[in-house]
Parts: sequence; structure tokens; C-alpha cells
Amino acid sequence: MSTQPEDSLERISSEVIACRKCRLCETRKKAVPGEGSKRSEVMFIGEAPGEQEDLQGRPFVGSAGKLLSELLTSIGVKREEVYITNIVKCRPPNNRPPRKDEAAACRAYLNRQIALIQPKVVCPMGNSAIHALIESDDPVTELHGIPFEVGAVTYFPMYHPAAALYTFSLRKVLEEDFRKLRALLDSLV
Ligand code: URA
Ligand code: SF4
Repeated sequence: MSTQPEDSLERISSEVIACRKCRLCETRKKAVPGEGSKRSEVMFIGEAPGEQEDLQGRPFVGSAGKLLSELLTSIGVKREEVYITNIVKCRPPNNRPPRKDEAAACRAYLNRQIALIQPKVVCPMGNSAIHALIESDDPVTELHGIPFEVGAVTYFPMYHPAAALYTFSLRKVLEEDFRKLRALLDSLV
């Protein structure tokens, strides 16, 4: 992973918007680079843009995004204060899971975003983001809510908010994990 001195989040976003490195460029309406504060101490990383995200060019703006915003509010964090993005930046057709070669083609953008923001905590949400970032085959059911340190970064895996939309018990687990995230962030200042 290399950060050129002149690299910036704005530059990454314009490259993503013009990107044709994988087949998802053929079916996307709008690429979704990610958004938020470049000074954020925490990054939230989902799987891939869905229908609303593809229409608007912004991450987590559909119903899962609404829940993510509510969870952030519940721990006193504004959405604009954090950085939110996905493993792949273009919507897969019919929301199928991103393929390995698509995630690989897209990975450099995420690596550059992480290198620029230098977050203390990275929260991969859902199995596909977790397994793209953490070397473990364990499922989210076992990994969620447990900090996982790799060098200067602490990974904090979570359930994907979409999984909690229709399952109340998972929503309770996510709320509890956000409280743990709050404590983790407070312990790192
Ligand atoms: N689900 C995701 O994984 N990412 C989004 O941006 C929206 C829904
Ligand atoms: Fe490029 Fe990533 Fe979009 Fe594929 S998903 S076209 S690699 S920005």
C-alpha cells in the first residue's frame, strides 16, 4: 500500500467515480467512494452500495444507513464526524455479494482511504467486510464486539445494520456493540 504525498480523499473520490477496473462499472448508476471526516478516529466499512446508494452516490443512505445513523447518535457521534465507506465502491447487480476479483480490483481505494485517515478504530460491518479485513474464518456471530489489534489499528467487527433491520435481537446486540465501541474510543484518547 503506497500513499503518494499528494494523495487526498478528494483525489480518491474522483478516481473512483471514473473507475473502470472491474465489471461493476458497467451496471452502476453512480459509484460510491465514501464520505465523512478525514480526521475521523473511526471508520465504518460495509460490503457494497445498495440501490439507494447507487442512485445517490453516497454510502449508507437507505434503510440500513438510517439505522447506522441512529446507532451513531445513540453514542453521541454525528455521522459527519466519522468516515463511512464500503469494500467495493460500485453496486453489484441485484445486490449480489461482491466477487473476489471485484473486491481485489477495488481494494487499493480502501487502503488509500485508511492510510490517509489513519483511524484508531476500523469497524467492518457484516461477514464480507470482516473477512476482507481480518485474517479469521470465524463468523460475525463470534467476532462481533471484540477488538482485534493489528499494528496501530484496532479492528472492531460488528453486525451489518441491514441484518438488524428485521431481527430485533440483533438490533439489541448492535446497540450493545456501539456502547462497547464508545468505551473503546474513550479508552484510546
Ligand atoms: N449496505 C452496505 O453494505 N453499504 C451501503 O453503503 C449500504 C448498504
Ligand atoms: Fe472500480 Fe471499485 Fe467500481 Fe470496480 S467496484 S469499477 S474497482 S470503483
